[in-house]
Amino acid sequence: MASDYIIEEKKQGQALVTNQKNSNSKLLYIESYGCQMNLNDSEIVASILSNEGFNTTQNIEEADLVLVNTCSIREKAEQTVRKRLQKYNSVKNINPKMKIGVLGCMAERLKSKFLEEEKMVDMVVGPDAYRDLPNLVKTVEDGKDAVNVILSKVETYADVSPIRLNSNGVTAFVSITRGCDNMCTFCVVPFTRGRERSRDPKSIVEEANDLWKKGFKEITLLGQNVDSYLWYGGGLKKDFDKASEIARATSIDFSKLLEIVALAVPKMRIRFATSNPQDMSLDVIRSMAKYDNICKYIHLPVQTGSTRMLERMNRQHTREEYITLIDNIKNIIPNCAISQDMIAGFCGETEEDHQETLSLMENVKYDFGFMFAYSERPGTPAAKRMEDDVPLETKKRRLADIIALQQKHGLYRMEQFIGKTVEVLIEGNSKKSDAHWKGRNSQNAMVVFPKGNEKIGDFVNVKINECTSATLIGNKQ
Ligand code: SF4
Repeated sequence: MASDYIIEEKKQGQALVTNQKNSNSKLLYIESYGCQMNLNDSEIVASILSNEGFNTTQNIEEADLVLVNTCSIREKAEQTVRKRLQKYNSVKNINPKMKIGVLGCMAERLKSKFLEEEKMVDMVVGPDAYRDLPNLVKTVEDGKDAVNVILSKVETYADVSPIRLNSNGVTAFVSITRGCDNMCTFCVVPFTRGRERSRDPKSIVEEANDLWKKGFKEITLLGQNVDSYLWYGGGLKKDFDKASEIARATSIDFSKLLEIVALAVPKMRIRFATSNPQDMSLDVIRSMAKYDNICKYIHLPVQTGSTRMLERMNRQHTREEYITLIDNIKNIIPNCAISQDMIAGFCGETEEDHQETLSLMENVKYDFGFMFAYSERPGTPAAKRMEDDVPLETKKRRLADIIALQQKHGLYRMEQFIGKTVEVLIEGNSKKSDAHWKGRNSQNAMVVFPKGNEKIGDFVNVKINECTSATLIGNKQ
């Protein structure tokens, strides 16, 4: 590795070649909110700016540049960012040369309005404009405001090697697609991340191999909608039909990509997120079943159990079709864990619709879930065409019903592991005790067990003796 890179001590005495360069003299402080795509985007941003003289710092007071990668999925997420901006600006009083910028979905949603509204930022950069950061930083360093929120038809940052931030040195994200073409009526993502485009599989395999060489043992293939992955030489998914016959005939969809990556790094664990029931194919499930190194876990958002509400959300499947997909997954991979996303109180939701959500959960008994009350997002089809008519108290009560039922099912699923031995990838110290390791099994369940002579990054077999609704507890075999 080039001598310009700073060498740091890794736990257990291994040398870790950081991505911090000796020759870099400026400091970047970057905070990320929202989904895993945003976390990975921040790693791409750190890499682009590392070539512009910036190393990363965890100490905001010494930073030359402070960037916050924002989320717009719910109103609360944006309120959090506004509070952080106040914090940064109070630090700016101590460090006046500091420049502040907003990245991500809120930057894309508000665009230059952000500069007018919030006198607290110098730069606004959308998710597809990070390559322009070197120019934008020069502009703000010259004392002018800078904005670039152009959405791209081709950008996948395929050639940018992310700088792993806050990394455990064992697990890493690898983005495979950007954008989303599904216009779910409640969702702001298609407006803040643009149209779907997929990344060249060669660059995905290169990144996976590079991570393996650096000692990483698990990757998560990322996309707003991974099932929609389709490589046919570059360009938008929606233009696939216009491509040449040879391009269509040699195209690579998500099930093929899973096979390519599983074969390229056979000892590396492979996960993926986020799936979409309307686009998931049986081939994807068969690829998962075929390779031991593809983890047996699917995050399969459904949002509601009512077909009437699915229609209002513009989700292109019915309750019955979703249940058929779940049955297919369970038939092909009996020990596959499944998690959900649920929205309580979407526009027009009746008590009957809510009961259908609870009965769907009863049918699937999810391993875990991400559950929220509906939060109207400006600019979405729902905000434009539907009334946010479910009272807040009703939303809260229905959300509480869903969370309580999920906790019951989560415990039920965890109890199925008692007495069994599972393979665990050690990720670090347990939160509660340094005398215990934590790591996850193939089903993405967190496992805690007493330390022996293992080390971070080892795969070990653990016999499960007891559990909570969120953690399996056992002993190494
Ligand atoms: S699939 Fe629907 S909910 Fe998911 S990112 Fe796309 S539009 Fe949003």
